[in-house]
Amino acid sequence: MKTGLITSDTYKDHDTGPGHPEQIARVSVVIENFKKLNNKNILWKKPTIITDDILKDTHDKDYIELVKNSFPTKGFSSLDGDTIISPGSKKATFDAAGSIITAIDGVENKEFKNAFCCVRPPGHHAEKNKAMGFCIYNNIAIGANYLINKYNYKKIAILDFDVHHFNGTSDIFYDNEKVLGISTHQYPFYPGTGSEKEKGKFNNICNIPLPAGTNSEEYLNAFEFALKRLKEFKPEFVLISAGFDSHNKDPLAQFKLETEDFYKITKRILEASKKYSNGKVVSILEGGYDLQALADSTKRHVDALIEFN
Ligand SMILES: [Zn+2]
Repeated sequence: MKTGLITSDTYKDHDTGPGHPEQIARVSVVIENFKKLNNKNILWKKPTIITDDILKDTHDKDYIELVKNSFPTKGFSSLDGDTIISPGSKKATFDAAGSIITAIDGVENKEFKNAFCCVRPPGHHAEKNKAMGFCIYNNIAIGANYLINKYNYKKIAILDFDVHHFNGTSDIFYDNEKVLGISTHQYPFYPGTGSEKEKGKFNNICNIPLPAGTNSEEYLNAFEFALKRLKEFKPEFVLISAGFDSHNKDPLAQFKLETEDFYKITKRILEASKKYSNGKVVSILEGGYDLQALADSTKRHVDALIEFN
């Protein structure tokens, strides 16, 4: 079976203004690279239309409405200091959330074996009632709740290897024993949360804080603990918050991972979860702000998804 690649052109209309690191080119360089590579093991799909019914399982009704009414008819507006929106951001935001639904349905219907959603805005900083750090709706949380409510899964693991703590995902699932959330991140660092003491109500949040300067070897050693927790949990479905801002070239953070590490990390997640999840894995783009590093690293991430059987 193939690997799904879920994307649409609407990300191009999510203009965050001049000089903003979460820029249109991030997704363009990744998509252009995959088009050029023309790998026949990739099945391209467009996101489904996301309904309020699905959104309200993750975000409060008032917040969903607030976001919908915030998009300007011209120029720019903002949902928080870092989260800039423009008229075209509305469709991009809904397509980003819809992409994870398409990916999950595709895996469940055996249309493809696993999937990568290449979308923006990212989602993992968005809390139940709050946009934050370039994120509007929490795409991966929407996916996890969809798996629980539509497919009746009882054990979903979310692995977040973005360099920033997944404060939004943690906020949404802090008291939900059906979800194990694991985050590796630079600490102390934006957004300030993510200490080992934040464990979730059911010991279902696992923070692995690491210092600025963490290199490949140090990171992969620490990642063994994430894999151990993953195996102990025996997830039925695995979701990956794939942030590539832990790359050594990234301008926003100070981890020193190499492109090849993203292949290793992905392969290890797949191997550790195969026995329980039967290879059901959906990944979605979070951060990653050096364009070349992002194109190269997403390629190696998807290579691991393609190779896995
Ligand atoms: Zn990040």
